[in-house]
Amino acid sequence: MRTKSKSIATLAVHAGYQKDEAYDAIVTPITTASSFIQRDLNEQRKFCYSRVSNPTRYSYETALAEIENGIYATATASGVAAASLALELLPRDSHIIVITGVYGGTFRLFESIRKSTFGFSFSYINLNDQAELEAALQSNTRMIWIESPTNPLLRIVDIEKVCQFAKARNIITCVDNTFATAWNQQPLSLGADLVMLSTSKYINGHSDIIGGALITRREDFAAEINSKKTALGAIASPFDAYLALRGMKTLDLRMQRQCDNALKVAEFLENHAEILEVHYPGLKSHPDYELCKKQMRSGGAVVTIRLKGDLERVNRFIKGLQYFVLAESLGGVESMVNHSATMSHASMGAEARAAIGIFDTTLRLSVGIECIDDLIEDLAYALAQ
Ligand SMILES: *Cc1c(COP(=O)(O)O)cnc(C)c1O
Repeated sequence: MRTKSKSIATLAVHAGYQKDEAYDAIVTPITTASSFIQRDLNEQRKFCYSRVSNPTRYSYETALAEIENGIYATATASGVAAASLALELLPRDSHIIVITGVYGGTFRLFESIRKSTFGFSFSYINLNDQAELEAALQSNTRMIWIESPTNPLLRIVDIEKVCQFAKARNIITCVDNTFATAWNQQPLSLGADLVMLSTSKYINGHSDIIGGALITRREDFAAEINSKKTALGAIASPFDAYLALRGMKTLDLRMQRQCDNALKVAEFLENHAEILEVHYPGLKSHPDYELCKKQMRSGGAVVTIRLKGDLERVNRFIKGLQYFVLAESLGGVESMVNHSATMSHASMGAEARAAIGIFDTTLRLSVGIECIDDLIEDLAYALAQ
């Protein structure tokens, strides 16, 4: 047997079980059937009912599992559906240690839903601080929730270190790998039990689906997640699975270009007179630069900035942009700009935002695949308004 490549570029095209058993089509077809015909009462079919398993979703899931160095993936209806599925692995009244500044939708799921419905409690801390970790431990601590890099200030967690700490205490680790993707880091290879993804972002990469995934290398979790996803039912549709699988084929090309572009954008903005702060873990000025170099292939494709001036100034900047579009999401081929205070972090008060370093003039840039000269010219023009 020839060994299979570990290169993401090759895996993104060939990973998993991507076959058409009917016609040998070169791409996985979209199988919309809810149900599959059984020839007799004794026949064991690979696919019976599409909530349980579906050929298109299966191709996508096996490919996802392989690029994340897992043995199993389940594709969910959204990123938050994947996060909520991860919580189903825990018993009632569990305590979870969470990184400060966790994604807003995850925070809402934890605080507004699972506190009351599952009796969960949460401690939000700096996971890189060993003393804080020790102090947060409780007898019912069952999970550590890691997100790295964080949104929007792109702080980095030492995944390997936190996973070692957790493993020694029999605590499950779940890493939200949405911002980095397997292209930048593989948390399962660093010791994590679970990877959670919003595939609405870089995995699909074309801003045209909402999807998520939960991935593991552990046999016990694979079986449990599979039976719980069937029981809960928040699965990805065959259309979405098809689009995400198609998008994933170019993950390497897109990430390479987007991360290269992001570094150049960050370098340009760092030296610009109208900019107060640039947050990009690929820049030496970022507090987690060394950790980023150790753990990630690049600084990622998101750059967060703080403009000089006020909200009016921000509005003029946004209106002056031609290619960066004002939008809620990130990770598409098109460059986007997000205003943290009125968009992603609108549910927080101004004081709470300021306490974590998000101001009225903070903007998150999701850098796309466009020509870098055009992106820099676009930013320079808008900053001159
Ligand atoms: C978008 C996002 C999510 C939620 O995913 P949806 O697909 O929108 O449900 C979770 N975590 C991070 C880091 C995200 O960016």
